[in-house]
Amino acid sequence: MLPKPPPRESSLGFLFLPPFRVQGLSIAGEATCVQIPELDVCFDMGACPRAVLSSSYVALSHGHMDHVGGLAYYCSQRRFQGMGTGTIVCDARIAGAVRRMMEGYRDLEQQQTLFEVTPLENDEQIQIKNNISLRGFHTEHTAPSMGFTVIEHRTKLKPEFTELPQEKLKELKDRGTEITRKLEIPLVAYLGDTAAGPHLVREDVRKAKIIITECTFFEPDHKERAKIGKHLHAEDIAEWLRVAECEAMILIHVSRRTHLGEARSSIAKALGARALERVHFLMDHRANRERYERQLIEAGVQPTR
Ligand SMILES: [Zn+2]
Ligand SMILES: [Zn+2]
Repeated sequence: MLPKPPPRESSLGFLFLPPFRVQGLSIAGEATCVQIPELDVCFDMGACPRAVLSSSYVALSHGHMDHVGGLAYYCSQRRFQGMGTGTIVCDARIAGAVRRMMEGYRDLEQQQTLFEVTPLENDEQIQIKNNISLRGFHTEHTAPSMGFTVIEHRTKLKPEFTELPQEKLKELKDRGTEITRKLEIPLVAYLGDTAAGPHLVREDVRKAKIIITECTFFEPDHKERAKIGKHLHAEDIAEWLRVAECEAMILIHVSRRTHLGEARSSIAKALGARALERVHFLMDHRANRERYERQLIEAGVQPTR
């Protein structure tokens, strides 16, 4: 009898939620990295598949190996491929350890791998693109942990001025009148490993168009395990979906043992089948491929297999 070849590497999870692609991989305890190419950011770097190298920001939710295992490789490989310095955005409480890890790899590789560490305090933000910022906030896990929101900043004319002609507006502006107000539009919220808590219903999370969140446990008798490991259970997700305004909630960090069909029905049972319309599983390759094929057909493109 000949030995079997190793299992084929599974492909990356992929969802197109216009205008954003959400892609990467995420299996509880093994590896999580979720990239949004349009925002130049990858959340977590538990492994570093080739596609995610192109993001120049990595936002780390916490220091567990399934979320940082590919980080040194990401920095080193970007140098090797001449892609410029990657910026690691992380909770200030783990920034020192991240730097020490990276310096250890510099010694080991005997090369000046470039990296930038940008620590964030609770509720602090940095600009990552024109009018777009990345904000970190504390979450609750068995290690210091942080969630992120990507915020678009817009200025809008104050309602009392919308009827005025251009020259009048210019006149007011020249006189120093504040004619605009600032608007914040939360585009994406990312919740790495976390227990439920007030951070799930912050304004910028509750109103985010896309929520990407862990959901590690589904079976009713795993609630205790979720509590001990400070993870989310499907029942937390169901409760959260009642108040979250998102167009799509993408579940990640599902364990390898979870049967996705059963996971879906446990949420449907709690909230009704309609609720499932906005719930996606990043790693449900079949459902996501079928969805993408429908998107292609709607756009007038013939899907190729
Ligand atoms: Zn994890
Ligand atoms: Zn963890």
